[in-house]
Amino acid sequence: MKKYQSYINGKWIDSLSKETIKVDDPATAKGIGEVACAKKEDVDVAVEAARKAFNSRILVDMHPMDRAKLMHKIAEELRNVSKEAGKLLCYENGKPLAGAEYEFVDAANYFDYYGGLTDKLEGKTIPVNKGVIDYTVLEPYGVSAHIIPWNYPISMLGRSLACAFATGNSTVIKTPELTPLAAASFFAQALDKAGIPKGTINIICGYGDEAGSYLTSHKDVAQITFTGSVPTGKKILHVAADRAVPVVVEMGGKSAAIVYPDADINKVVETAKGAIFGHAGQICSAMARVVVHKSVKSELLDKLAKLSKSLKVGAGYEDGELTPVISEKQLQKVENYARSGTQAGAEAIAGGKRVDRPGYFFEATVFDKVKQDMTIANEEIFGPILSVIEYQDPEEAIKIANDTEYGLAAGVFTKDLDQATVASNQLEVGQVYVNSWFTGSIATPFGGYKQSGYSREKGQEALKSYLQVKNVGIQL
Ligand code: NAD
Repeated sequence: MKKYQSYINGKWIDSLSKETIKVDDPATAKGIGEVACAKKEDVDVAVEAARKAFNSRILVDMHPMDRAKLMHKIAEELRNVSKEAGKLLCYENGKPLAGAEYEFVDAANYFDYYGGLTDKLEGKTIPVNKGVIDYTVLEPYGVSAHIIPWNYPISMLGRSLACAFATGNSTVIKTPELTPLAAASFFAQALDKAGIPKGTINIICGYGDEAGSYLTSHKDVAQITFTGSVPTGKKILHVAADRAVPVVVEMGGKSAAIVYPDADINKVVETAKGAIFGHAGQICSAMARVVVHKSVKSELLDKLAKLSKSLKVGAGYEDGELTPVISEKQLQKVENYARSGTQAGAEAIAGGKRVDRPGYFFEATVFDKVKQDMTIANEEIFGPILSVIEYQDPEEAIKIANDTEYGLAAGVFTKDLDQATVASNQLEVGQVYVNSWFTGSIATPFGGYKQSGYSREKGQEALKSYLQVKNVGIQL
């Protein structure tokens, strides 16, 4: 089995203990590689490399245009490897090949986008007393620690890393233990080939409760970016609070689409294909619930059931449309949720059980007769399960959509733009999609309300999290 290493201070190295983490192909449950398992002592080495690189001021003192050129070079190298790297990511992650390749292109886009902003990070002059010049300077924090989830390991890495790098921070990235291989190899190689200064970006893998928790509590880490589940995010927030370190928290969701009586039902169904069954529903902003008007519910249910039965089950590299969930543990979790739905009185009109084949496949499932107080309507399942909830008047629809602890995303399907605008104003979420899903780009801010988090990634909004403001007052 191929062995992958950590990338620290410009070198690929084993962990000091020589321990590794085995990585499986979720479509077959068979091992495909192993990666160096970072322990506390390896985290120390990585943080030390990042701290030294930061203290040398190599990124900070680099002309912003040169930092931009370096970032565009990284983008180019990431695009160059996207085909080959996508294959490895597809094997370790289970997602469709095109989506896996696109993660590298997406990461490249982040480097281009934030590369274009390096010379636009301006402070301001502030009028104060006569005889005083007052101005602000934007400065990086120092060592920025990034904790990455397994569902989009390369996109998420590119998203936070490009922003941290553009602003002059040095970084230590802890990749997810379930899908670390493409980052340890192709991603690190692209950085190295582009010529990043040694130690400015370090990539390690290790278990969350060991390497992740030690990294986020490390005395030399000055800023943390976490993307993952709410329980882990809360743990990190506690740890960071003890050290008064700022944290970007991007967490889970239980997003609802409201389908009004005038909605184009075919469009809703077409959208649901990617929004809840794409990547087997393992998407933070997945369309996990549909809140549909009574008058169009039966048409929608018929079409959703047809859709879910039509999806080709298979690995990402077999052109599967319904690909596996990430692990046996995740599969069992999805099964338990499906069981709880049935026990609570919901009815699976399609799917509802694991697929009888090797690997971790679960049927594309549509639950009818869901009530908002059921567990399947409230908790993030992270699997291909769609809960359909009926409403009768528009206020009730908004109330149902908002009635979870999460607030990541929501959608409205209607031809009435007034209706869409009013609903968008009332939905308690970080992003609203109208007659679509995942609408936006790397330039649009992304993040949650309520338990889904409070910071923003993507767009110019994200830069704020990686910069601190210094005010200088000069008495003439
Ligand atoms: P997770 O919380 O289990 O793990 C995320 C990362 O945290 C992993 O790298 C893990 O090793 C690490 N970790 C675990 N315990 C830790 C600890 N005590 N200290 C430090 N690090 C620790 O989440 P997951 O299962 O990998 O990812 C799925 C979750 O991520 C879902 O809830 C999904 O909604 C969320 N997510 C959110 C976004 C977003 O932008 N809002 C994007 C992708 C995924």
